[in-house]
Amino acid sequence: MSSTTLIDNAPAPAPVDPRVALVGLGRKEIAAELERIGIEPKKVRMRTKQIFHWIYNYGVTSFDQMTNVGKPLRAKLEAGFTLDRPEIVERLISVDGTRKYLIRMSPGVEVESVFIPDVSKTGALCVSSQVGCTLTCTFCHTGTQRLVRNLTAREIVLQVIIARDDLGEWPTTQENRKLTNIVFMGMGEPLYNTEKVGDALDTICDPEGLGIGRRRITVSTSGVVPEIGPMGERTSAQLAISLHAANDELRSQIMPINKKYPLKELMQACRDYPGLSNSRRITFEYVMLKGINDQPWHAKQLIKLLRGIPAKVNLIPFNPWPGTDYECSDMETIKTFSDMVNAAGYASPIRKTRGQDIFAACGQLKSDSEKKRASVLRKEAKAAAAG
Ligand code: SAH
Ligand code: SF4
Repeated sequence: MSSTTLIDNAPAPAPVDPRVALVGLGRKEIAAELERIGIEPKKVRMRTKQIFHWIYNYGVTSFDQMTNVGKPLRAKLEAGFTLDRPEIVERLISVDGTRKYLIRMSPGVEVESVFIPDVSKTGALCVSSQVGCTLTCTFCHTGTQRLVRNLTAREIVLQVIIARDDLGEWPTTQENRKLTNIVFMGMGEPLYNTEKVGDALDTICDPEGLGIGRRRITVSTSGVVPEIGPMGERTSAQLAISLHAANDELRSQIMPINKKYPLKELMQACRDYPGLSNSRRITFEYVMLKGINDQPWHAKQLIKLLRGIPAKVNLIPFNPWPGTDYECSDMETIKTFSDMVNAAGYASPIRKTRGQDIFAACGQLKSDSEKKRASVLRKEAKAAAAG
């Protein structure tokens, strides 16, 4: 008997919609699409402006809502395009109001984004730039997921659209909106996808579109030195550096990228960051790992390293994940560390851990889009066996 069984009554695969999804595209791409379906060249610019505004200011989900577009053109748009959003595979809301979305961009490509309320009086959306990560920082859950691929600009923009849909914050211009800030602190290393991050920000920051000011965008990097300056020039975004250790030996142990771009080069790139000033400081993220990087002498090293740089320090209590050997430092230790850094003149708030009940906190993001590394599987199996 053959081992293959033919299932006669298996459901037919869902028909693929051949129409192009417009939501997430930038102005240039929308213009090219309009040309493709035969819009008169001299009207393309005007139509692009209208449609861009409907999509990103009003968040429309149907062409019929585009009231300044005549019926015949609406029908033409409907025939060639959709205003569909990608599927939300999972949506979780934490007791503290944090919302986590698992979004399927295409089959096998799933990304997470997290909306955190009460950040800078309003709220911030933490977006992903890659599925998985090529880097292997030892304390990070995403680092255990191999890179599946870079996200496209459209897929980055779509994360913002989905959050705004879910929060009911259309039109974009409404007062009291909560989604005012974007941080690239989700899955992946944004500076290994700089071009797409730049393109996505052109749409996200467009005042006629999603209207988020460039000063309210923060790009966090583990320290891809050659990309730091160009990213700043291209995006005018705020820079955050995942520092986590202030000496090369320790940093190379916990963040292998430090072997390629050691602290001296990283700090020089920070000093040279475009637009750096006391009102536009660099944020240095520092995850508190018990017994690893949390002692007073580590704080002293950090203070010395930051000398002369307009900086603030974000102390992040380590968020555990299945299979990790690290533990979070005690609150007492974190407070002592924070007091020392503060006394040296650098604001060093201890970040509140948000959304832990839904596994949405920093460094906990990871989708199942790829096979895990064998070493992690072994560790997880060991942890499970130990009960
Ligand atoms: N790849 C970029 C963007 C991800 S940002 C970067 O590394 O900067 C995510 C932030 O959370 C980084 O500062 C990262 O170092 C930190 N992080 C990673 N794992 C963590 C964990 N388990 N607990 C707390 N913070 C963590
Ligand atoms: Fe990648 Fe950032 Fe995690 Fe390091 S901390 S593995 S760079 S996502």
